[in-house]
Amino acid sequence: TSLSLRDPSLLETRAYVNGQWIDGATTFDVIDPATGRLVAEVADLDVAAAAKAVDAAHAAGPSWAALAGKERSSILRRWHDLLIESADDLATILTAEMGKPWAEARGEILYGASFIEWFAEEAKRIYGDVIPGPQRDKRIMVLKQPIGVVGSITPWNFPNAMIARKVGPALAAGCTFVARPSELTPLSALAMAVLAERAGIPAGVFNVIPSNDAPGVGRELCTNPKVRKITFTGSTRVGRILMEQAAGTIKKMSLELGGNAPFIVFDDADLDAAVEGAMIAKFRNNGQTCVCANRIYVQASVYDAFAEKLAGEVKSLQVGNGFDDATTAGPLINEAALRKVEAHISDAVGKGARIVTGGHRSDLGGTFFEPTVLRDVNPHMVVCHEETFGPLAALVRFDSEEEVIALANDSEFGLAAYFYARDLGRVWRVAESLESGMVGVNTGLISTEVAPFGGIKQSGLGREGSKYGIDDFVELKNICLGGM
Ligand code: ADP
Repeated sequence: TSLSLRDPSLLETRAYVNGQWIDGATTFDVIDPATGRLVAEVADLDVAAAAKAVDAAHAAGPSWAALAGKERSSILRRWHDLLIESADDLATILTAEMGKPWAEARGEILYGASFIEWFAEEAKRIYGDVIPGPQRDKRIMVLKQPIGVVGSITPWNFPNAMIARKVGPALAAGCTFVARPSELTPLSALAMAVLAERAGIPAGVFNVIPSNDAPGVGRELCTNPKVRKITFTGSTRVGRILMEQAAGTIKKMSLELGGNAPFIVFDDADLDAAVEGAMIAKFRNNGQTCVCANRIYVQASVYDAFAEKLAGEVKSLQVGNGFDDATTAGPLINEAALRKVEAHISDAVGKGARIVTGGHRSDLGGTFFEPTVLRDVNPHMVVCHEETFGPLAALVRFDSEEEVIALANDSEFGLAAYFYARDLGRVWRVAESLESGMVGVNTGLISTEVAPFGGIKQSGLGREGSKYGIDDFVELKNICLGGM
């Protein structure tokens, strides 16, 4: 390939299992969505190879767990430092396989590394409790111990960060890890493994198994009794499948699933700030994040002004190849993603919505799409109920606070919600009423390593990041000391 990397050894196409770089029986192609060109041919691991990776993680578990938290911490810290040093190259690999603008890709690398850093710090602070005994001769202690082998399945939209958010807390807690990255974006995961090896993460502790057989490898991870925990980011549809498959061996599950985030603009909002927030919440990663605003509710008295200002900003987005400096909106990941955006637009337009800007495939061809604003959207349109995962801002008009809360909560999803308002009573009431795991108030950006990320309802289970993020990877042990 023609990627220009300072350190070409980061472009690894073999799998990483038990500290060894191995080939699969075959390979599969990784394609640059901006050009349709081949980036690399990557080892395609089968179910038997996945089982071997689980064996390796299982064998490596006891000695990794036995290290002092401080020892795991310094290894993770080294990994973090190497990820930062290689940020430019990692961003280049990421843009090549996924398409997002290079500066955004670099931002993802820093964001991902921040979770490794955070959990390197937390590795030293996995505290238990001492509980007063219920009888005079008893004392009770609570220990937190690693769950064991973790099977990880991650999507293509954040090929680095979705793994970093999982492997950071897992390794900090003393778990070992088998990562099955998206078949669309395995190269970022393999580059992380190159640096994990250099950082001194022991053989078997972090394994990366690229595979084109998502259902087969997924089933293996979910049913293998040596895997004690599944951590997944992806669609609610696949989350349900994994939960069902994991039932046979009663695995712990963390699921970061789909969203359909409402974004509400009240009439007392700072409109310019709301537009700025909507641009981030809607168009970051070209609309391809699970916390992207999907339904933008604007109070009647500011509706026209907001629509006009937002359309002005959207028109200034620059669609193009992520390697061009001017680009702020890359390609969509594939043709299916494009068709979904088109379907949401044609459904809405068929039911009376109007296109303010965009609405069509870009002249650039391929999977490029014009950033779009639709007005006069109503709750009966598909875009208000399904995740678009593309650059489509759908503006719904509302009158009252009660009405908009009911509309916002009318969803099986509950991941993120955003709103803009200034009245303090309203801010508190609305934040409490929204049924979602995360609420952005007067901001369009809620995701950071210091705060818990996760959803309620059918958006998932568990939290990533923050002091709570370790909890998903530890078991509590009650030690009841009697006969004192
Ligand atoms: P997205 O829409 O973000 O691609 P998916 O849920 O389809 O969400 O994919 C998320 C991850 O789950 C990807 O790595 C994909 O390959 C994987 N995946 C898809 N189907 C299955 C399955 N049946 N079992 C396990 N993993 C799957």
